[in-house]
Amino acid sequence: QLRLENMSRDFGLLNALKGVNLTVQRGEFVALLGPSGCGKSTALNCLAGLLPLTAGSIWLDEARIDLLGPEARGFGMVFQNYALFPHMSVRKNIGFGLRMQRRPKAEIARKVEEALKLVRLEAQAEKLPGQISGGQQQRVAIARAIVVEPPLVLMDEPLSNLDAKLRLEMRAEIRRIHNLLGCATIYVTHDQDEALSLADRIVVLRDGQVRQVGTPEALYARPEHADVAEFMGYRN
Ligand code: ATP
Ligand code: MG
Repeated sequence: QLRLENMSRDFGLLNALKGVNLTVQRGEFVALLGPSGCGKSTALNCLAGLLPLTAGSIWLDEARIDLLGPEARGFGMVFQNYALFPHMSVRKNIGFGLRMQRRPKAEIARKVEEALKLVRLEAQAEKLPGQISGGQQQRVAIARAIVVEPPLVLMDEPLSNLDAKLRLEMRAEIRRIHNLLGCATIYVTHDQDEALSLADRIVVLRDGQVRQVGTPEALYARPEHADVAEFMGYRN
């Protein structure tokens, strides 16, 4: 269980996160949804340990973790731009985290093989990132994040660089992988459809504050604020 208490982050005079409170259960898929500039990436970077909090705390199963660095937290991360190592094969990219953890060679080989199968990239294992498609690169990034079996997976607009058709395919893929592994996931997006179709629960963020939290059904049927209603109803 992950708990955010009054999570706050300022940039100079700008309050990018204004005291966010949230609990994420084991295995839950939570979408962080909101317009550009509302603080989604800031929240994710704070969770990952890439950005210190200005105030508040983060708890994982009763342990306070907001003072730990990113490696010590050990969360899986998937970014918009994939951030793969260009000089490493798909297989090497996926195994990177396990090698950092100095796991035994045989275990690394077995886990990487499982992850390759899970994201259906067995045939691409020896290629470099530059030799595979955008959707395949995104699947490498997902495999690399989950192969270490992290307590939490963080994804920041992971599909925004893909074309519309691939985006729908990868959306289904992400949900399929989540259903298989059950890793708690926080998924940042500004796309209502994506949040509605993927998440167990949606957190609507606006201006650095949580406006409403609920299941996709509840948010869609019973928005508590006019701006949430407008945002949920908007289609592009
Ligand atoms: P988008 O959907 O466009 O990615 P976002 O919801 O991820 O937006 P953030 O990147 O979290 O938004 O930014 C929240 C606010 O904090 C914005 O006003 C942004 O300009 C500001 N901000 C973010 N990072 C920094 C930084 N390193 N220094 C100063 N201001 C920042
Ligand atoms: Mg962002």
